[in-house]
Amino acid sequence: PSALREIMIQAPDVRWDDIGGLDEAQMRLREGVELPLRSPQSFKRMGIRPAKGFLLFGPPGTGKTLLAKAVAREAEANFVATKSSDLLSKWYGESEQQVSQLFERARQVAPTVIFIDEIDSLAPARGGGIGEPAVTERVVNTLLAEMDGLEDMQGVVVMAATNRPNLLDPALLRPGRFDELVYVPVPDQKGRRKILGIHTRKMPLAKDVDLDDLAQRTERFTGADLEDLTRRAGLIALRENLDAEDVTPEHFNKAFDEIRPSVTPEVEREY
Ligand code: ATP
Repeated sequence: PSALREIMIQAPDVRWDDIGGLDEAQMRLREGVELPLRSPQSFKRMGIRPAKGFLLFGPPGTGKTLLAKAVAREAEANFVATKSSDLLSKWYGESEQQVSQLFERARQVAPTVIFIDEIDSLAPARGGGIGEPAVTERVVNTLLAEMDGLEDMQGVVVMAATNRPNLLDPALLRPGRFDELVYVPVPDQKGRRKILGIHTRKMPLAKDVDLDDLAQRTERFTGADLEDLTRRAGLIALRENLDAEDVTPEHFNKAFDEIRPSVTPEVEREY
């Protein structure tokens, strides 16, 4: 049986204003990914090569996937996403084939952003990956060979995401591979305010809902946590009354009782 999965090319639909609190990451990606994809001739003129690979790192739910999609959309590039677990096939030889096919498809439809989520489980520094060690090693070697083989100006940029950058095989971080590291942090209060604004854009908020206050009360909440908070507040409003017209501070207070931040102080210190 063929375990090869279909490679889905997407036209990503995330805009920069759907993302809050990641201004620095956004700036670096615009310059590093968007610029070379949009004006390769400028890089040629300067005699410099653009970066080939970007490693986004930070706690889960902070917006790594969103950033990759937004940068692809902004660059008018196609987007091909995959997870490490999808690339590791138990069928002999097929994992490497998956990786090669991924790159081949990406080149065919260039400009393309390839996004590999959970790359740490594919390429762990000291074994212990999710696949069989031998398979994992061959897959990593194939990935590195594909990245080495990408010629400058071919219009393919690789972005990968990890929650645990220190678990990564150092071979991936050599020049010409993932040579740009982009930190995607837990949002600060200002960032949380923006993210709350984004996720309540379509929500009928009661006049006395104070997003600044909510931002202050949500320390160590990630973007995903904040989205969860707003969604739950909306659900609670509906649970009380299916014809509810707005979401009130009281609904938010109840939502707070149902969730907690996914980031602990210990986790925060790790980055
Ligand atoms: P993981 O490491 O678990 O893959 P991630 O960092 O890739 O997580 P995303 O998948 O980008 O996180 O975010 C999950 C969801 O959380 C998004 O679809 C979005 O709704 C919300 N979210 C996360 N970060 C942000 C942000 N900075 N601004 C707005 N929404 C966000």
